[in-house]
Amino acid sequence: MADTLLIGHGTVFTLGPSGRVIPNGGVLIEGDTIVDVGPSEALAKQADQFIDARGRLIMPGLICAHHHLYSTFACGIAGEPAHNFVEVLEKLWWKLDRALDLEDVYYSALIPLARCIRSGTTTIIDHHASPNAIAGSLGRIGDAVTEAGIRASLCYEVTDRNGLAGAQAGLDESAAWLQRCGSGGMLHGLVGVHAAMTVGEETLKSCVELARKYDTGLHIHVAESNADQEDSLSKYGKRVIARLDDMGGLGPKTLAIHCVHVDDDEIERLAKSGTVVVHNPQSNMNNAVGCAAVPQLLERGIPVCLGTDGMTSNMLEEARASLFIRHHVAEDPATGFGETVQMLFDHNAALATACFGKTLGVLEKGAAADVIVMDYTPFTPATADNVYGHLLFGAAAERVDTTVCAGKVLMREGKLETLDVARFAREALDRTPQTWTRFQAQ
Ligand SMILES: [Zn+2]
Repeated sequence: MADTLLIGHGTVFTLGPSGRVIPNGGVLIEGDTIVDVGPSEALAKQADQFIDARGRLIMPGLICAHHHLYSTFACGIAGEPAHNFVEVLEKLWWKLDRALDLEDVYYSALIPLARCIRSGTTTIIDHHASPNAIAGSLGRIGDAVTEAGIRASLCYEVTDRNGLAGAQAGLDESAAWLQRCGSGGMLHGLVGVHAAMTVGEETLKSCVELARKYDTGLHIHVAESNADQEDSLSKYGKRVIARLDDMGGLGPKTLAIHCVHVDDDEIERLAKSGTVVVHNPQSNMNNAVGCAAVPQLLERGIPVCLGTDGMTSNMLEEARASLFIRHHVAEDPATGFGETVQMLFDHNAALATACFGKTLGVLEKGAAADVIVMDYTPFTPATADNVYGHLLFGAAAERVDTTVCAGKVLMREGKLETLDVARFAREALDRTPQTWTRFQAQ
């Protein structure tokens, strides 16, 4: 029998359907699984090891439904001004991703993975691009993820923008990754597609076939800006979602990222197929592309999740952005709260559970032992009815103290146990001037 670990003496927010609040509660872990949740004193007798939460908040690890670890080296880069979404791609992201080599890919992953642990994000779904270092790129990110100790679903964004040979290399890397990661572990795979506007029919068909072969879905940016729709209408005479649908690319395992510019017919197709939509409000605001019609998508029963698009690894920060953009767009400060809670805590949990085959995003017996302690001691009454108010308006402003994933302590009292981030930052700094030179040379 594995050692048991009790994270106790805290205020437990179980989240999930039961949504319990347990004052002076604890979570008992054996191996990688939660074996009990309840009053701390009652669980203490069964524990071999103890983490004292000292009255602070114990809750499930957070989940990011769309990330770009590779965007890390854009921090501080001197790019040309971009005045619309296509210019953002051409002047920043497509120059940066072409500048990355395999070691850049590895270091680009380590830095935000440390941030994930520091902000209590224990599961991410990532979308990667490095057109001059495709072969082995997902393996290098997988190495970094394994060192960090969190869960990650990875994919390579297949695209025709670097020629058909580039697209084939992306497909090959995707197949190699899907072969390696298998199922049921800490790693997972999807078939990445950059966006409908950068793949022709043959490449898109190959992506759909590959996803089908490995019983997985696509992970694709959809109608982030209207340029994607204009491209689709001019080349194929149909809108993006219709094109994906006709190709067999929709379904419950497919992630359609953004969906800012979708019409009623497209919403209907997303709903009928059970496709997952991922909302990324900070990125949408940063790129000035608009805001997805989240209430309408949710009303049609579409599982809308919350991602960060690489803008941050902190999901409570992103949740606040989700709330505020909805207030702003609707000109109604009473709207958006329930939607944000549903996306981050219900739908992200369901998505991650489906990907990793283990109950995630909830503290309950049998769930994965992904548990965080936030340095937040409730100072107003905390009840099952107001936990999300505490999270978005209280805990979100505080730091995470302890992060545990699959029963392993990744950070204890603010100190990372698996990653030496100061060393990684120094090593990254040895590389990034050359990476930026390659960026500027394009
Ligand atoms: Zn993205």
